[in-house]
Amino acid sequence: MVRSTVAHINLAAIRANVGAIRAYLAAEPLDGRPAPKLIAVVKANAYGHGAERVAPVVEEAGADLLACADIEEAIALRQAGARLPILVFGALSISDLDGIFEYGLTPTISTPWAARAVQEAAARRGATVDYHLKIDTGMHRLGFRCENLRWTLPPVLAAPNLRLQAIYTHFASAEDAEAPLFAEQRERFDAAAEVVRELAGRMPMRHAANSAALLRDSRVWYDAVRPGLLLYGIVPPPLASTIPIQPAMSLVSRVVAVKGIRPGEGVGYNSRFVADAPATVAVVPAGYADGLDTRLSGRGHVLIGGRRAPIVGAVSMDMLTVDVTGLDVNPGDPVVIVGRQGEESWQTLDAREMAASIGTIPWEIVCRLGSRIARQFD
Ligand SMILES: *Cc1c(COP(=O)(O)O)cnc(C)c1O
Repeated sequence: MVRSTVAHINLAAIRANVGAIRAYLAAEPLDGRPAPKLIAVVKANAYGHGAERVAPVVEEAGADLLACADIEEAIALRQAGARLPILVFGALSISDLDGIFEYGLTPTISTPWAARAVQEAAARRGATVDYHLKIDTGMHRLGFRCENLRWTLPPVLAAPNLRLQAIYTHFASAEDAEAPLFAEQRERFDAAAEVVRELAGRMPMRHAANSAALLRDSRVWYDAVRPGLLLYGIVPPPLASTIPIQPAMSLVSRVVAVKGIRPGEGVGYNSRFVADAPATVAVVPAGYADGLDTRLSGRGHVLIGGRRAPIVGAVSMDMLTVDVTGLDVNPGDPVVIVGRQGEESWQTLDAREMAASIGTIPWEIVCRLGSRIARQFD
């Protein structure tokens, strides 16, 4: 039994997107440098796409590392058979440390406390841990402050059981062409890398670019890039794609009921939609428990019969209602909530459009897709 509302995950699209990103990275003139490595970001269940199925696909397609948010996600990837090195972005807590050793993970060290904790845990096991050092160049979240490295880094470098493999930073506003912070962070990272080179006696691998930074500026590609959103075929707004990628997720359902509404009658909780003329609504079995945002009411659309039908009335927990007045719609008819239903441009509803219609970001649309929704992989 599968519910009517399902997410189709096109693994071939993800494979092709990885290939397109690699081709793009290799085509740019790199002044003799090798093309940057690809760190495939599969955190948050591969942005809702199903990490256990996505990870082997990006591995085969030529990713060099996987990255995820925390140790628990990394363990799930290993248990699903992931063989590549797995970089864990998040801060470590005490309970996490065993997983690093048991599952061969690459932690990020982003605080002096974490450096001491991992060093102690490694020493107890007689193990050596390769780590990536996170440098805060202006996000002011995790990471060693770039201006303090001369004081904070020497004890980390001196830790006998820790081996610095890479340094990285994260951009706070890579998609915003107006924000001066992007260039400032790049300059600070370059300066920090020189300090690390001096203190460590060599330049470790460097990486910085999320999807938006990768698209915007090849100067921040360094030795590796870290796209997430692009792997799934979504271009971070407001940027335009310069890489031929295709969305990998579509969300489809079927009409479960059709109802005539008389003038003056309201539909759904609090009668958020009141018909001013005879109307027809179709009921679609997908609601906010499936991850659909309540703000879609009165703002979003679905595709039915190749046409755009507006979402009217409140989005409820398990269903939503769409205005299909004048359309020939019957129970069982296919509904596209995200995806394509025909070849015309208006027959596509993508995550980016849905996000824009409700004032959020496409990352949130795909990551929020509920656990109740079956993922069908094709
Ligand atoms: C999520 C994340 C990325 C990927 O970001 P996208 O905008 O989805 O490409 C890269 N680096 C870090 C540290 C992240 O947390």
